[in-house]
This record gives sequence, C-alpha cells and structure tokens, in this order.
Amino acid sequence: MVKRTKIVATLGLVSDTKETLRAMIENGMNVARLNFSHGDHEWHGKAIKTIRELSAEMNVPIGILGDLKGPRIRTMVEAPIEIKTGEFILISDVVKAPNFQFPISNFQTISNEQISNDKKLTLDAGNIVDDIEVGHEILIEDGLMKLVVREKDGGVMLGEVIDGGTIKNRKGVNVPDSQLKISAVTEKDEQDLKFLMENEVDFIGLSFVGSGSDVEYLRGKMKEFLGREDNLPQIIVKIERKEAIKNLDDIINKTDAVMVARGDLGVEIEGTRVAVLQKEIVKKSLQHMKPVIVATQMLDSMIVNPRPTRAEISDVTNAVVDHADAVMLSGESAGGKYPVESVRTMRDIIQHTEASPFDDVTHLMKLDIDDDFKNLVKGAFDLAKNSASTAIVLASVSGFTARMMSHFRSEKPLFVATNNEKTYHQLALVWGAQPFFTQEKELSKVLEEMIAYRKSTGELKDGDKVIAIFGSANDNKEKMQLVGVKTI
Ligand code: PGA
Ligand code: MN
Repeated sequence: MVKRTKIVATLGLVSDTKETLRAMIENGMNVARLNFSHGDHEWHGKAIKTIRELSAEMNVPIGILGDLKGPRIRTMVEAPIEIKTGEFILISDVVKAPNFQFPISNFQTISNEQISNDKKLTLDAGNIVDDIEVGHEILIEDGLMKLVVREKDGGVMLGEVIDGGTIKNRKGVNVPDSQLKISAVTEKDEQDLKFLMENEVDFIGLSFVGSGSDVEYLRGKMKEFLGREDNLPQIIVKIERKEAIKNLDDIINKTDAVMVARGDLGVEIEGTRVAVLQKEIVKKSLQHMKPVIVATQMLDSMIVNPRPTRAEISDVTNAVVDHADAVMLSGESAGGKYPVESVRTMRDIIQHTEASPFDDVTHLMKLDIDDDFKNLVKGAFDLAKNSASTAIVLASVSGFTARMMSHFRSEKPLFVATNNEKTYHQLALVWGAQPFFTQEKELSKVLEEMIAYRKSTGELKDGDKVIAIFGSANDNKEKMQLVGVKTI
C-alpha cells in the first residue's frame, strides 16, 4: 500500500551522501529540507545536485525545500554568564552595545553599584532594543531562560531574571511580546534566496513570518531574482511567532503552503498550547487548500535511540489523523544517529494509521473556495467514490487541480500527470498525489502516457475504469475539464 501522508526530511552532515539519501528515498522521504541556518552554499549545492540525480535515477519526484534562516536573534557573550532568579542583567543590541560603558544610566529599580559588570548580554540584531518595551519577555535557548524588561535607558535594558541558567554564546533568543521592525527576509536570506533561485528549488521556507505582507515581500524578491512572474517555487510559511498566530488568516491566504513550526512556536506561546494550535493551523490550512506540514520533535528521541517513544509514535499518528499533508523530521535526519531508520519509522507509523479507520474522512472537509471548479472536482471525486473505478487520473499543469482533488482525501489512488517539472516536484508534498512527469505538450497525451506507465508498473490494468479529469492553464485558476468515467 502506498502511503498518502508525505515525509519531509531535513538533510545534514549525517545524511548528505548519495547512498544515505537513496535509502531515505526508498524508505519514504518525499521532500528534502535544506536548512539555511547551517551549511554553506557549496554544501547545499552538492545536496541539491545529488537529490536531483537520485530523483531522475529512481524515477520519483522529490521536492526540495530551501528553508531560510530568517530574522533569528542570537546571544552574544564573551564568556558564559550565569544568571539566577531575581537577579538583574543588562541587555543591549549590536548597535547600542557601546552604551554598556559605566556609569550606565538612571535606573530606578537598582543602582549602578548593584549591577555586576560581567552581567551584560548583547543581542545580535541591530537596534532591536527600540522594539522591545518595558514589561516584554526575552527568552533564551528554547525558552530555558526567561528575562523580563523592567527599565530602559540610553539603549540599555534592565532585565530581571525570572528563570535562571547559563547564557552561552550564539543561543537563540525569542521576544514574543515585541513587534519587531527587522525584515522577515534578512541580508543573509537574500543571498541564500538568490542561490536557491539559481538552483530552481521547489519550495522556500519563510521563517518567523509575521504577516501576509512578509509573504508578498518574499514573493516579490523571488520574481525579481528569477526574472519571471510565474512557475515560482512555492512559499511555505513557518508559523512560529505569536504575531503569526494573530495574523493567521491573512498569512494563510497569501502563502502557498504552511508549516506548523512547533519548536519556536512552543517558546513564543505557552508550550502546553502547541497541540491545540497545531490542530487549528492544520484545519485552517486545509480549508484554504494549502498543503500543511507538522514539524519538529516528532521522533526526537531517535536522534540518539534506534526506536521512538510511544508518545512520539502517537504524535505522528495524530498528525495523520488530523489529515496533515506531511510530517517532518529535523535533527532526527539531519544530525542524529539514525537518519534512515527515522524515515522508515515515520513511514511505518503513517501506514499503520492510514490502514486504520481513524484517519478516514467521512464528511466533506470544509473548503473556503466556492466556484464551478470546486463543483467540478467534487463531482469527479463523488463519481470516483460511488463508481466501480480503480483510481482517479488527473492531468495538471500548475498543480491546482491536483491540490483541489487531494483536498477531498480520496480513498482511491490519485495519479497525477504533468508536463511541468516544478509541479511534478511540488506535488511530492501534497497528500495522496502520485505524480508523473512527461515533456509531452498535449494534455490528453500526457494523461495517456501516464496511464500506459501505470499499467507497466501494474498499478493499473487493461479494462480498469478510471475517473479522468484535467486542468490546463498554467496559473492558479486552471481551466478544468471533466472527462468522466473511462475504461482503459
Ligand atoms: P527551525 O524551524 O528548525 O528552523 O527552527 C522549525 C521550528 O521552529 O519548529
Ligand atoms: Mn523555528
């Protein structure tokens, strides 16, 4: 049985050889994620080349996701600083750090003498102090440590330690209460984006998205660097900020796909709310027909152990039951001891779940699109469901018709033919879609070629009845045509 829910696997130093990547594809990886928080262009370029080679050799679509680092703030300290609950610490940013010189300021809470000269923390973003207000929280290293800003003076903030620990250099910082003016696409991101456009990747991950206009800004840059208006990589917004939760509708409307980035999300909001938010984000994405990925810590213990915990198995199962398009591996496949086993384990959990009745869709899932195309695709879906047909066969240029058909989560196989190579790889992320690529221009022939190919693999056979449909224009409003029931 072919699995319907897709697997996104992050690549890293433990998974960059051709043999390992081949094994990961054989075990069910559909999309390779390149994390631009790490590695240089040489490494990423090699990984892209290897994936493209394997995809062609093995005749399987593999989506490549270039995940931009985004405006991640980090700590800058000369030596680790130990902070205890109730203590005070001075905080500034790279631009204002020279103001750290004593005497500092006229803080009311404590006097200069009470401030230790070694307790000074610099944040590696320019002028960020302007955006952080008194009362705002500053979280360090996945929220392990928590400070609250009590006073501000001359570009220096006085932070009270709520949860102590040891602040090390280059640890991630979250400021969930602050409205940051730093752009969602940094200078480094622009350089990475240029590189990713030159390499024609399939998806771009937008980290720390805050609003719909961030999405539009990125899409504008992509068009500029590519020098074309369409056939763009799809944007995957990473929902990981409080701000993004506030602007969720606008963001989902403007993006192409969504990632529930539970790592940072669980720092920016109470960690105990993450599972409920996951369900809300998945549901909303499905309503808008945007492919959605559940990410981070899914099989976390497999970074060091050959088998996951029962709770982790349950986590993957629940994402499948929620009808997410894909589940994701991070450290498990990028830096752990068991990259291939993690993919295989994920696939096994997906297959067990899909074989059960718990992920079945018994009602029509809500779709916030209501036009004749929806009625047409829904008609084809109903026909597939209620007839003695073996499969749905679909030709799609932009992938729109295929994504819409996927939305109904058909129990019958969904074979998609396309003559657009980007669409072919992008559909690797879409629930249930089994893409096929050909250079053929004429859509009815594209469909015929795929049917012949599926017969050669034994997935279809002579005399089978299939439901055929095609969508033809290369934009988000494909012109659709229902062919109807076809005996092949
Ligand atoms: P990251 O994103 O791994 O790039 O931080 C995922 C997350 O925050 O969950
Ligand atoms: Mn993140």
